Amino acid sequence: MATLKLPVFLSKVRGPNATLQKLLQTKSFKNALHKHFSSKNATPISTTAFPEFDSLTNLNCHEDLYKLSLERPELFWGKLARSRLKWEKDFHTVQDCDMTQGKVNWFLDGKINASVNCIDRHLVKYGDRIALIWEKDEPGSQEYITYKQLSEMVNRLSQTLLNHGVIRGDRVAIYLPCSPIAVAAMLACTRIGAIHSVVFAGFSAEALSGRILDAQAETVITANEEIRGGKTINLKKHVDEAVAKSPCVKRVFVYKLIDREIKMNKLDIPLEKAMSESSSKCQPTAMDSNDCLFMLYTSGSTGKPKGVAHSHGGYLTYAAVTFKHVFDYNEGEIFGCLADIGWITGHSYVVYGPLLNGATTVLYSSTPTYPDQGRYWETVERLKINHLYTAPTALRLLLKAGDSWVTKYDRSSLRKLGCVGEPLNHEAFEWYRDVVGENKSDVIDTWWQTETGGICLTPRPSNPGAEILPAMPMRPFFGIDPVLLDAEGKEVVGDDATGALCIRKPWPGMAYTIYGDHNRFIETYYQPFKGFYFSGDGAHRHPGGYYQITGRMDDVLNVSGHRLGTGEIENVMDDHPAVAETAVVGFEHDIKGEGIYAYIILKDEVTDTFEKISKELRELCKSRLASYAQPDIIQFTPGLPKTRSGKIMRRILRKVAANNTDDLGDISTLADPSIVQEIINNHQKII
Ligand code: ATP
Ligand code: MG
Repeated sequence: MATLKLPVFLSKVRGPNATLQKLLQTKSFKNALHKHFSSKNATPISTTAFPEFDSLTNLNCHEDLYKLSLERPELFWGKLARSRLKWEKDFHTVQDCDMTQGKVNWFLDGKINASVNCIDRHLVKYGDRIALIWEKDEPGSQEYITYKQLSEMVNRLSQTLLNHGVIRGDRVAIYLPCSPIAVAAMLACTRIGAIHSVVFAGFSAEALSGRILDAQAETVITANEEIRGGKTINLKKHVDEAVAKSPCVKRVFVYKLIDREIKMNKLDIPLEKAMSESSSKCQPTAMDSNDCLFMLYTSGSTGKPKGVAHSHGGYLTYAAVTFKHVFDYNEGEIFGCLADIGWITGHSYVVYGPLLNGATTVLYSSTPTYPDQGRYWETVERLKINHLYTAPTALRLLLKAGDSWVTKYDRSSLRKLGCVGEPLNHEAFEWYRDVVGENKSDVIDTWWQTETGGICLTPRPSNPGAEILPAMPMRPFFGIDPVLLDAEGKEVVGDDATGALCIRKPWPGMAYTIYGDHNRFIETYYQPFKGFYFSGDGAHRHPGGYYQITGRMDDVLNVSGHRLGTGEIENVMDDHPAVAETAVVGFEHDIKGEGIYAYIILKDEVTDTFEKISKELRELCKSRLASYAQPDIIQFTPGLPKTRSGKIMRRILRKVAANNTDDLGDISTLADPSIVQEIINNHQKII
C-alpha cells in the first residue's frame, strides 16, 4: 500500500481475470472440478490425525470438520489447544476477539510456557530423539542435537540470562544465523518470559540498530562470525556498530560460532563461559496466554517493516496444529524447512511447529547454490529429508540451472514439497512436482504472512484424498474463513470472483499488535474493511472454492480500463524457455492510464538476441492473455531487488519505471542494494 490509496487500488479489483479464465476452460481443470464435486472428494477424516473429535458422531468427512472449526471455534480450538499443548493452568474462555476493533485474546486465563512445550514434555519418551540437524555451510559437516542436549542448552542459557538481570517482559534481540544456539536463545527467552526479537543475521548494522531501538532491547545475543556460502561474515562487527547507536543496550552475549578470537568490548559477555557457569536447570515461568511471546519484523516488501507481536497460547496452538496437518507430518520424519529463523517461516516451521510436535527439524545455514546448484538436492539425499519447505525464489533460481543438478541425487525420501513467500508460477510448480518430486510427492503451495502466525491457505490439510491444482494454495486451513471484498467493502460472492483477500473470523495464530504502534496495527489490518482482517493481498476464487493469490493489492494494474494482476503477466512470461525470472510493474501512461513495464532475467547460456526474445514475450502475452497485456517496455537485467527473505521489492521497480529514484523509501531489508543502481543505469539506457 505504499503508493496508492486503498480505494484507488481496490477499484481496480473488478471483473474476471484473463489467465484464470483460460485456466478455467482447460480439460484438467474441469476434470479436477468434477472430481471435487463428486462424492469421492468427501474424504473421511483420519481418526489418527484428529483423535480429539472421535466422539463427535456427526463428523463424516473432512469438510464436516472444517465446518465445525468455523461454526464452533470454541469447541474446535479448545479441544486442540488442550490436547496438543501442556498448560500450567487451564484457560476458562477460548477466545475474546473483536474483528471490528482488532481486539485479540486467546485462551483467557490460561498459563503456559513455550520451552516446556517444545522440549521438556518430550524428554521422558524422546530425550534421545534428534531435535535439530544443523546443516552447516560445508556439505557433510552437519551436527545432530538431541532433545536432551537442546534441553541442557536452553536451561543453561535461560539461567545465564537471569543471572545477568534479564527479566520477564524484557526484549532480547537475537542476531544469529540458523543454528542450535539460535534456537536455544529463542527458547531460553521463552523459558523466563523474555520477548525475543530475531533479526536476520544478514542485515546491516543500521537495520539491526533500528530494530533494537524499536523494541528498546537491553540485551543482544550474537556470535563472533559465521560462514555462509564459503564466505566469513563478521557478525560482531555489525553488532558493535549497531550497539554504538543503541543506548538502550546493556549487555551483549557473544557466542563463538567460529573458533577465532575477536575483540570484546565493555558490554560483551562470552556466552559459552557464562553458560558453563550457570545451572543446567532453570525453572520455567508460567506465562499468561496473551503475554507477548515474540516480536518479528515483516519482510518490508511493501514499506517500512512492521514489528508484529504474537502471544503465547494462540500462536503456539496454531503453529502446532498447522505444522501437523498442513504437511501431514508423521512421527519420526525429517522436516526440512530451508528458511532462516529471521523470518516467520523459520519461527513457525523451523522452530516452534516442529519442536511442539517432537519432530526432527533441519537448521539450514548455507545458501541454495553453495558449493554448487545441486546443494539442496545433495542435502535431501544425505539427510534423507521427508518434507521440503522452501520459497518460489529459490525454486526459480535452481530451475534456471537445469535438471541434471537435481536428478543426480536420490530424492526418494521426499514425501511433501512445500512452498511459501510469493505466488508460485506454473513453470516452477511443474518443475517442483515433476523434476524434483518425480510426480510422487504433493506440492503444497501455502499462503500466509508474518501477521497470521501460521499457514492460512493450503491445498491439503490432512486430507489425503483431495486433488491439488497447479500453483495455488487452494483451500482454507481449519478455522480460516477467507472472504473476498470489493472496493466498497462488499463481499464478492460466487465461485469465480476476485477481490481483496480478507479473513472474517478470528484464528489463534493472529498477531495481536504491532509492537509499540497499536494504531498502525488497527489502521493496516482492521480499518480498511470494518470487521475483517485485511491481508493486503488480492485473490481469485475459482469454482470449487479454490483460492489463487493474484499478488499484492498495490500490484494490480489498470491498463486501458482492463484489470491485470502483475502475477499473471509474470506467470506467462516465466513460461518462455529463455526466461528465468520476471517482475512486472505499472507506470503512468498518457493513453492507457497505466503501462506495463517488465524486468526480465534470462536463463544462463541463452544466446538469442534481446530483440528476438522481447518480440516473443510480447507475442506470448498477446496469445495467452490479451493484446493489452503486452509489456510496453522490456528491460533485461542480471538481477532484481529482493528482500532478504527473497521477495521482489516491486515498489523500487515502480520508482525506476517512473524515473523517480531520488527517494527509494525504506530499503533496509534489501538483499543486494548494488543491483538497484545497475537497474537504474540500464533503465536510463533504454528509455
Ligand atoms: P511487508 O508486510 O513488510 O511488505 P511482506 O508482506 O513481504 O513484507 P511477509 O509477512 O514475510 O512480509 O510475507 C507475507 C506475504 O508474502 C503475503 O502477504 C503475500 O504477499 C506473500 N505470500 C506468502 N505466501 C504466498 C503464496 N503462497 N502465494 C502468493 N503470495 C504469498
Ligand atoms: Mg506484508
